[in-house]
Amino acid sequence: MSSLHHHCGLFGIMDRPDAAELTYLGLYAQQHRGQESAGICCSDGTTIRRHAGMGLVTEAIRAEDLRGLSGSAAIGHVRYSTTGSCSVSNAQPLLASAAMGHAAVCHNGNLVNAVALREDYERRGRIFTTTSDTEVILHMLADLEYREQPDPLAAVLRHLAGSFCLLLMYPDRIEAVRDPSGNRPLCLGRLGDAWVVASETCAFDLVNARYERDVEPGEIVTLTARGLRSRRFAPAESPRRASCIFELIYFADPSSEIFEESVHLVRRAMGAALAREAPADADLVIPVPNCARCAALGYHEESGIPLGRGFTTNHYVGRSFIQPSQSIRDLTVRLKLNPIRGSVEGKRLVVVEDSVVRGTTTRGKMQSLRDAGAREIHLRVASPPIRHPCYYGIDFPRKEELIAEGREVEEIRRFLDVDSLAYLSLEGMVSCVRVGAEGYCTACFTGDYPIPIDARFTKNVFERNQLTFFDGAGDDGATP
Ligand code: SF4
Repeated sequence: MSSLHHHCGLFGIMDRPDAAELTYLGLYAQQHRGQESAGICCSDGTTIRRHAGMGLVTEAIRAEDLRGLSGSAAIGHVRYSTTGSCSVSNAQPLLASAAMGHAAVCHNGNLVNAVALREDYERRGRIFTTTSDTEVILHMLADLEYREQPDPLAAVLRHLAGSFCLLLMYPDRIEAVRDPSGNRPLCLGRLGDAWVVASETCAFDLVNARYERDVEPGEIVTLTARGLRSRRFAPAESPRRASCIFELIYFADPSSEIFEESVHLVRRAMGAALAREAPADADLVIPVPNCARCAALGYHEESGIPLGRGFTTNHYVGRSFIQPSQSIRDLTVRLKLNPIRGSVEGKRLVVVEDSVVRGTTTRGKMQSLRDAGAREIHLRVASPPIRHPCYYGIDFPRKEELIAEGREVEEIRRFLDVDSLAYLSLEGMVSCVRVGAEGYCTACFTGDYPIPIDARFTKNVFERNQLTFFDGAGDDGATP
């Protein structure tokens, strides 16, 4: 499955002379979490400097940009827009100088009450310079109503609703925040004496840091040159925990440990559960690369059917998000995956996918296997049918785009043109994570949304995506 995109990836580090370079690497390791823009803010204790640009990390941030980011603390961000248009004005971190001093912020998730908060500020004459839901956080931090509170940041956070992991930078510190439901991952690590924070632990691996623990739901962790402090802005067990199970199914890197689970092991367990629930009489198990490799391994181990390679991956094809139209996206996916005739010709295949969203790209892949001579195709999907949109940071907001919405499995099978089709059950899926259904959001499968949604959010998110700003090739800024 290649048609879903994540909102963002975060990385931060405190008290390292090479903070900007390490942040660059931390973002590079998390490139899969967002490819539209990348940015870094760096503090030397007095001034916060920023560079952000469009494209992959290597395109958005060049060596000369890094040289301009002096200081021993840094935060960084890779972005794929789900609210707010794809433009450099929305690239994060956002940096502001206001009554609360200099502050930068980057965000992973969606604020489901951002529209209401923003409309309120706009009525009072505030000017917004981005269409991103994140900017409202800077306005709230500058608001006297919150600044007069004993803990202004905690007061702001208690008024945010939805899914949010945040890194906030002030000249002397970084504050790492996770929303009370723990919807997105945020991990803490150590690099020598320095503290690091990242959306996924794969970022720690690249910079040689050691994972210590997750930032807890409802927790604010403050990183300074003197070490780490923790406080809460929400009670430990309220509301119920709702980590995004899709992170484990598809988004996170298989080498990462998030939500205290190994992504690889969970996916492998889902593949094994799928083999028990939906066996197939076949010659070869093949994954749809790259995301379903772990699930296909689990299916193969459980079923005893040999594991093979059905596709080659062309790593040099342009990124599919560049062209937003469905027709071009389909074309790009076909260019990326080439079936291996010598492997699949004359074979009865079990094809393992991690998930199916719109179905159009999956149908294209199945057709290419048939064209390469596959005798039978038994498609096995290592997650349940997606029937509901996500409002917490994943880009399938419209129900009518989902192939499983309003359709039975047999109808979907006919659309995909495969010999048999089976999905992993909801029970089978949650049996593969240690805490079970109680700890996870499964709303895109069940329609049971654990975090309440402001009706204005669902109405306006699409409209706001239509706003565009003048884009340059990149932008730089520094607090005065
Ligand atoms: Fe994740 Fe689906 Fe919940 Fe969105 S609705 S947070 S994709 S589990």
